[in-house]
Amino acid sequence: MLKVASLGSGSKGNATLIATDKATVMVDCGFTLKETLKRLERLEVSAHDIDAVLVTHEHQDHISGVGPLSRKFDIPVWSTRGSLLSGKCGKLTQYSIIEGFEAFQIGDLDILPISVPHDAREPCQYLFTASQKHLAILTDLGSYTPEIIDTLKSCHGILLECNHDEDMLWNGPYPYSLKQRVGGPLGHMSNKQAIQLLQSIISDDLELLIASHISEQNNCQDLVQKSVAEAINWPQDNVIIAGQDEGFGWYSIR
Ligand SMILES: [Zn+2]
Ligand SMILES: [Zn+2]
Repeated sequence: MLKVASLGSGSKGNATLIATDKATVMVDCGFTLKETLKRLERLEVSAHDIDAVLVTHEHQDHISGVGPLSRKFDIPVWSTRGSLLSGKCGKLTQYSIIEGFEAFQIGDLDILPISVPHDAREPCQYLFTASQKHLAILTDLGSYTPEIIDTLKSCHGILLECNHDEDMLWNGPYPYSLKQRVGGPLGHMSNKQAIQLLQSIISDDLELLIASHISEQNNCQDLVQKSVAEAINWPQDNVIIAGQDEGFGWYSIR
């Protein structure tokens, strides 16, 4: 069994849990230690049970809580060299470097790092496999590549960035330079891009779809649910939303 839950997702902080019966890993931690523990409690997980924290990249909303959590509970951190060299994790006593996006294992979880176009030093996202089920975590990418499409094709579950609605972004209050960054090829994925990506990878195997990293300024949850569900012919309620404050509770892929 492969299951996933979120402590919260958005530009103010991200952290996702992936678990099997034998392993629990956290992807990113963009919350303070106090906030992380409060949110873990809500998901009925003890920090002592986390086997590893995997970093996607060094932006604050993903990395600010990684060092404190790792040091306090002696949790090993996995990161690309680029993300680690940013220094944003502080001093770590336990860490492993992901070289060349090579696959690795934690317990019975097979983990494949995915290279993504995003404006960080060496950003990566992850594909998890256990019991022949695949779950991809894919936030913070400005565009998608043929390699990403290939990697996602056999997925049973995807947590996918639906950052902004293009009209809301370009007509919204952000300064022009920020609009260019967010909307650019190394920024964040729009609803439209997410839908195009989904349409090129969707199969009958896909059973769990979670929309994440939704902008509070330039998007709205209802719009994401409605437009994504319509585009792939799913009932609207089947598109799960990862919110900033509440994340989402445990979902299993069986
Ligand atoms: Zn982010
Ligand atoms: Zn980022």
